[in-house]
Amino acid sequence: MIESVEPRIAGAIRSELADQRDSLKLIASENYASPAVLLTMGNWLSDKYAEGTIGHRFYAGCQNVDTVESVAAEHARELFGAEYAYVQPHSGIDANLVAFWSILANRVETPALAEHGVKSVYDLSEDDWEVLRKKFGEQRAVGMSLDAGGHLTHGFRPNISGKMFHQRSYGTDPETELLDYDEVARVVREFKPLVLIAGYSAYPRRINFAKMAEIAHENGAVLMVDMAHFAGLVAGKVFTGDEDPVPHADIVTTTTHKSLRGPRGGMVLATEEFAADVDRGCPMVLGGPLGHVMAAKAVALAEARRPEFRTYAQHIADNAHALADGFLKRGAKLVTGGTDNHLVLLDTTAYGLTGRQAESALLDSGIVTNRNSVPNDPNGAWYTSGVRLGTPALTSRGLGIDDFDRVAELIVGVLSQTEATPTRSGAPGKAKYSIAPGVAEATHKAAEEL
Ligand code: PLP
Repeated sequence: MIESVEPRIAGAIRSELADQRDSLKLIASENYASPAVLLTMGNWLSDKYAEGTIGHRFYAGCQNVDTVESVAAEHARELFGAEYAYVQPHSGIDANLVAFWSILANRVETPALAEHGVKSVYDLSEDDWEVLRKKFGEQRAVGMSLDAGGHLTHGFRPNISGKMFHQRSYGTDPETELLDYDEVARVVREFKPLVLIAGYSAYPRRINFAKMAEIAHENGAVLMVDMAHFAGLVAGKVFTGDEDPVPHADIVTTTTHKSLRGPRGGMVLATEEFAADVDRGCPMVLGGPLGHVMAAKAVALAEARRPEFRTYAQHIADNAHALADGFLKRGAKLVTGGTDNHLVLLDTTAYGLTGRQAESALLDSGIVTNRNSVPNDPNGAWYTSGVRLGTPALTSRGLGIDDFDRVAELIVGVLSQTEATPTRSGAPGKAKYSIAPGVAEATHKAAEEL
């Protein structure tokens, strides 16, 4: 049917399926959603407008969207043991924006309105409005630095979060490359932020959220955890106790499409204290919710509540361990010396390559990764000095420990037989490279066989 309307789109979809089947997908933020999740996204809920919240919509006829949103939120609350769940955000960025605005509303707007003796921003005089705007503009946030593995939405300048908040970041220990809780405590004590953000996109270790909560709360800050990357490991009970953010954080945000294996989307979990403010995500930050995607979130969350998901999550972590061991025994250098989550950060400078050269050489060989900064990266955020590798997608395809050892062998094989092409002046180039003859083809064939 798509073919007869726009054959180029039909072709791109077929070609994407072939690419995803024929290559080894090691991008740490990607996965393969189940057929049930994929099928749930193609339905008539897509055609319905339902701005508002469950039972309080700005449109008529939203009873089916109400059902979908309630079921998804119920699964999210029960799966994660959260007091409140908001499943409308269209993406991780949206979930973080909802969280930031709800923290500002809860901690800045509400007290400021009380000071002016009014209940709603609509009743503020223009002068009082100016006071409130100024209070918003004075707020501060602290998050993990980008090159230590943090995310753009954690207060960095190119992102709106860096414009909403004055920002400081914490990094990792220069020797061990591990998160230094004393350093986090020092930054928070000195800077006194409204929000301490924990969570990462490229840090290969677990975080002690009980410690992070202690640091935040001792200093009057709200602890917000962005578990976008490791939500599947929390859902699957690989991260428990102090490593489970939900009992410790005031607000937890996540994507639903990474290790959680759901549709593309976001979600916010919150304590009762923040529930009413998070519930204002639409219209504060979001427009009409995507009913078809919330339905697929409900299906994915129901899948994640099954016992098989715990096995899957454990396999993600075991496979990451096997991948790291496979690299280490072949002499590779890994940021922090290993992993205890779902990802590995390989330092490519040991092969004389930038992250960009390594990423391209691997892609030519049927292995899909993404280049990534390493702490204090000498090559900057564009070329970088590392590649990030994650196990969720190939674990969904059924690969196990021995397969991941083979993946490490293939990657080391390609990188050790790839050379950076020098620039005209003879300096080491950062983008061009050459792979020894036959290596890419042989690796591609081996990758297809896995
Ligand atoms: N938060 C973290 C930690 C992420 O790694 C990402 C994406 O990679 C996001 C938020 C943003 O998610 P999205 O791409 O769905 O907006």
